[in-house]
Amino acid sequence: MTVDIAVVGAGPVGLAFACGFANTNTKVVIIDKLPKAVLARPGKDGRDIALTHQSAQILKKIGVWDYISLRSISEIKQAIVQDGYSSYCLDFNCHDIQKKCLGYLISNHLIRKNLYKRLKKISNVTIINNVECESIITNSHYASISLSNGTTMKASLVVAADGRFSKTRSMLAIPTFSHDFKKNMLVCRMQHEKTHNNIAYELFHYTQTQALLPLKNKQSSIVLTVPKDIALTLMKVHKKKFNKEMQNNFNNRFGKMTLIGERYSYPMITIYAKKFTTNRFALIGDAAVGMHPVTAHGFNLGLKGQEILVKEIKFAIERNIDIGLPIILQNYQLKMHCVAAPLYFTTNSIVNLFTRTSFPAKIIRKFLLRLTNVIKPVKHIFLHVLK
Ligand SMILES: Cc1cc2nc3c(=O)[nH]c(=O)nc-3n(C[C@H](O)[C@H](O)[C@H](O)COP(=O)(O)OP(=O)(O)OC[C@H]3O[C@@H](n4cnc5c(N)ncnc54)[C@H](O)[C@@H]3O)c2cc1C
Repeated sequence: MTVDIAVVGAGPVGLAFACGFANTNTKVVIIDKLPKAVLARPGKDGRDIALTHQSAQILKKIGVWDYISLRSISEIKQAIVQDGYSSYCLDFNCHDIQKKCLGYLISNHLIRKNLYKRLKKISNVTIINNVECESIITNSHYASISLSNGTTMKASLVVAADGRFSKTRSMLAIPTFSHDFKKNMLVCRMQHEKTHNNIAYELFHYTQTQALLPLKNKQSSIVLTVPKDIALTLMKVHKKKFNKEMQNNFNNRFGKMTLIGERYSYPMITIYAKKFTTNRFALIGDAAVGMHPVTAHGFNLGLKGQEILVKEIKFAIERNIDIGLPIILQNYQLKMHCVAAPLYFTTNSIVNLFTRTSFPAKIIRKFLLRLTNVIKPVKHIFLHVLK
C-alpha cells in the first residue's frame, strides 16, 4: 500500500488532522490499535473538554461542530480563580473578550465520536483499526511502516498522533522534556442543588487544586488534582462520603452535591518533545506536547498544531513540492514551538507555584493573582488564549 500520509493514532487530534484533507486528492491512511466499535462509539472517560473559540472555529471549518448536538455543548460565561478559600479572586469574564461566553465544554467521548463520524464520510481517508504500528524506517524518498497485522505501507510522510506516551516517538528516538507531578487528576460529574450561573471555578489549595466546570441542568464536571494516595482513596470511598467531601471542599457554595456515574483518575505526567519533526516524520497532539490539564489547553493546542501542519502540507502540494521535505516540516516545527512553548512552560510553572507550601511561594501566588487582575496587559495575555 502506498499513501501520501500515514497517521498513527485516531484520537481526537489524529482524526481532526485527517479531516483537514477532505475534498483533496491527498491519500491519507489513519491507523489505531482500538477496535472499530470503540472508535465509532467511544466510552465516557470523565473528561469534559473546555474549548476556546479558536478551537470551535477549527471544528466548524473541518465540518465537525454541526454534528455535535447543542444539548451537549455548555457555555462558560465567567472563570474565577481563587487562592484556597481566600475571598480574593482572579476574575475572567466573557465581556472582557466581547463574546457571549469565554468558551465551551463538550465531553471528550462526544468530540471523538463526531470526529470519527465526519471522517467516515471522507473518501480519500482510509481507517485501519485493531492494528499497531511496529516499526518505521525512513529514507530520503519515503517512509516504510510495518504494522502488527503483517502488512507494510509506504508513505511520503508519517504523522504520529498516538498520545503522550507515544511509541512511534520513541521508535524515532525523539527525546522529551517530561515532568512527573506525582499527582493524579480525578474527574467526575456531579449534580448540585444551587446553580453555578455558568461560572467555572478553579481553587488552588496547597496540596491540591479543585475545579468545577459548569455543565447544563445544575450539573458540573469536577476536576481534582491530588497526591496519588488521596486519589486512590477518593476513587474507592463510598459515594455518600464522596458527596459530602466534595460539598465541604467547595465550602457548601453549591449546596448538596451528588455524584453521577463513574470517577476517573489520570496520572499527571507532562511531556514536551525536544523536536516535533525528523526525516519524513512529524508529531502532533499529545505526542508532541502533553500538557497539564489544569489550564485546559491540551486539546486546544493539539487542534491548533494539527491545523498548522495541514496548512504547511497543503502549501507544498499546491506547489508540487514533496510534503516530506525538511523545509516543509521545519516550518511546522518552528510555528508549533512558538505556540506551544509559552503555554507548556507557563502552565507547569503555575502548577508548581500554586502547589508549593513554602512561605515565599505563598506570597508570590497572592501577588500574582492581584497583579493579573489589576494590570490590564497581563490579564489580556491570559484572555488572548481564550479568543
Ligand atoms: C483529565 C483530563 C482533562 C482534560 N481537559 C482538557 C480540557 O479541558 N481542554 C483541553 O484542551 N484539553 C484537555 N485535556 C487534554 C486532552 O484530553 C488531550 O490533549 C487530547 O485527548 C489529546 O488527543 P490526542 O489525539 O493527541 O491523543 P489521545 O487522546 O491520547 O489519542 C491517542 C490515540 O492513539 C492510539 N494509539 C496509541 N498508541 C498507538 C499505537 N502504537 N498504534 C496505533 N494507535 C495507537 C490510541 O488508541 C488513541 O486513539 C484533558 C486531559 C485530561 C487527562
